[in-house]
Amino acid sequence: DEGNAKPANALSMTASFKRRKADLFALKKNSRVWFRASEDSWVLGVVQSATDAGSVVCSTDGQVFKGASKKMLPANPEILEGVDDLIQLSYLNEPAVLHNLQYRFDRDTIYTKAGPVLIAINPFKKIPIYGSEFVQAYRNKMKESLGPHVYMTADSAYKAMIRDGANQSIIISGESGAGKTETAKITMQYLAALGGGRGVENEILQTNPILEAFGNAKTLRNDNSSRFGKLIDIHFDTSGRICGAKIQTYLLEKSRVVQQAQGERSYHVFYQLCAGADPSLRVHVNLKAASQYRYLNQSECLVIDNVDDADLFQSMLSAMDVVQISKVDQKNAFCMLAAVLWLGNVTFSICDSENHVVVDDNEAIQSAASLLHCNVKELMAALCTRKIRARHEDIVQKLSYEQASDSRDALAKAIYASLFDWLVDVINKSLESGKHRTGRSISILDIYGFESFKKNSFEQLCINYANERLQQHFNRHLFKLEQEEYTAEGIDWTRVDFVDNQECLDLIERRPLGLISLLDEECTFPRATEETLSMKLNKHLNGNSCFKLERGTIFSIHHYAGEVVYETAGIMEKNRDLLHADLLHLLGSCECSLVNSLAERVRDGFRKSNGMESQKQSVATKFKGQLYKLMQRLEGTSPHFVRCIKSNRFQNANAYDNDLVLQQLRCCGVLEVVRIARSGYPTRYSHHQFASRW
Ligand code: ATP
Ligand code: MG
Repeated sequence: DEGNAKPANALSMTASFKRRKADLFALKKNSRVWFRASEDSWVLGVVQSATDAGSVVCSTDGQVFKGASKKMLPANPEILEGVDDLIQLSYLNEPAVLHNLQYRFDRDTIYTKAGPVLIAINPFKKIPIYGSEFVQAYRNKMKESLGPHVYMTADSAYKAMIRDGANQSIIISGESGAGKTETAKITMQYLAALGGGRGVENEILQTNPILEAFGNAKTLRNDNSSRFGKLIDIHFDTSGRICGAKIQTYLLEKSRVVQQAQGERSYHVFYQLCAGADPSLRVHVNLKAASQYRYLNQSECLVIDNVDDADLFQSMLSAMDVVQISKVDQKNAFCMLAAVLWLGNVTFSICDSENHVVVDDNEAIQSAASLLHCNVKELMAALCTRKIRARHEDIVQKLSYEQASDSRDALAKAIYASLFDWLVDVINKSLESGKHRTGRSISILDIYGFESFKKNSFEQLCINYANERLQQHFNRHLFKLEQEEYTAEGIDWTRVDFVDNQECLDLIERRPLGLISLLDEECTFPRATEETLSMKLNKHLNGNSCFKLERGTIFSIHHYAGEVVYETAGIMEKNRDLLHADLLHLLGSCECSLVNSLAERVRDGFRKSNGMESQKQSVATKFKGQLYKLMQRLEGTSPHFVRCIKSNRFQNANAYDNDLVLQQLRCCGVLEVVRIARSGYPTRYSHHQFASRW
């Protein structure tokens, strides 16, 4: 394990030789070692005696351990305690890496380099290492005294963009709650300070509170969990000044609008609106307290510790002003939010012996209709009946309680999701660089992190699939391309193995027998059930080692970051994402330009079939296409990788869970990256690039 650092070629022989010598580990009296005290716990100690029969180790706190030599790994000399870059460690084993990271974390040093990758460990508390003083320090490159930092990564990206004239990307990954969104914001702040001047940089920063309000929510993993993926391209002109930006978002979790797991919340903006709207807005949108809305009160979680929703609403309003979202647009958007909330309170009563329903005429339906500017009778009809074209006449079919509830929820989801897209478009218009756009860009990617809950459904499948794609991009750049280059250049090189996740990606996206294709196919059968879907998946996928049918309608996928157990229940409905034609028609006929434009957006993605509007593409297939485009975009940039690591599962400051850190390091291949980096070359230029620098 430790002896595979080979000299790359004669030039780096001296350095490699030193490393190799150090890697040869002889267990002697007084050697510093890591002693494996139990399966996953290592104790640092000094060898008291070493014989073939076993060795005695005295830990730093005076305990004595006895055991076979194979229970021991070499520890680094004290002088290497807490090094900035894991590359510098003489011994690169798991306990050594963990110790180094924890040593730094205990001193509030949350950033560490792992060769080309920046590791950021979430401290869950404010650490005073940000702000203009630090920006200046990193900008002026007093590098020797300054440790690794996202500022340094952002700085490298900026300098590389200017120097090489190439687009850059900063790719931030990690589990849910690991700190990606915070890291992305810190990166943006640095770039804004570096390339600011025109004023648009502040607009770019102010998009964060808006998009977080509409696209983030409290989950069991993270109080501010991103429920959409985001790529922001920051555009620079030829003089290196920011001249605009463009945001691309990926698959917002729609289902959250109408339903959340116990202890989770819907999107922040709903609670912010209920808590923070001023009296005139309250009257305008007929607003009640959050606790009065079923879409918000069903999960029994209305507030987040240490979060003031009313305050955040004010910040969001001023952010909307900065981003130049007009007051009229703001007000219209709040009407839509209130309409969604009122729709959630719409109830039905059974009206005949066949369980058909009518909408109860009450404040909920009246308010929803008035906020959407539509006729209340028409809204009622659209919610509880369905026009079906049979031969040459329209037949009106009454809906059951369940069908009517589903159509109400589908309407609420469609309104919210298109409102989100509309908002992103409005923001993009305001950030457009127009004719200034002459230079290059730095893209920052912040998507939803890998998730595994007790119950996992379509949403987790999509989120984890996106993370698999991202992991493959990481693997490709740091393992495949890197090592292929050594081979191509004829350098004597011992391959470093890494866990390739191609099989899992094949499982999900291969055609015609991958999970998405099979799911799509099953979705076209009106009589398909959870059972038929599970059987189909099992029949075609059980040859793939990443797939397992657990029992009945439950299956599991072995992802790079661990195994996740998914339920088939509800997956097909979410993948189909149907909205009835009558509802779409109703939205189109509303006397409100925003509602009409939302209807237009919904209609764009749909095609008409048998009275039901179905998606042109299933949700999963559309997402697959989006991810493909994203990867293509990223391939056109020089990547900078940031790996966020969660220090503990409870969002606690000052808690550090070694096992959890280790598990995250293992699954993303950080140790292997360091191994390649320390036996490889730190930089490479073509002759042309090299010559033109002087
Ligand atoms: P998700 O995938 O669920 O969106 P995420 O990786 O984006 O998760 P964040 O929302 O960025 O996670 O971080 C979760 C919380 O951790 C933040 O709300 C903040 O409290 C804390 N946190 C993250 N990074 C830092 C940091 N650098 N300094 C202080 N606190 C941080
Ligand atoms: Mg996030």
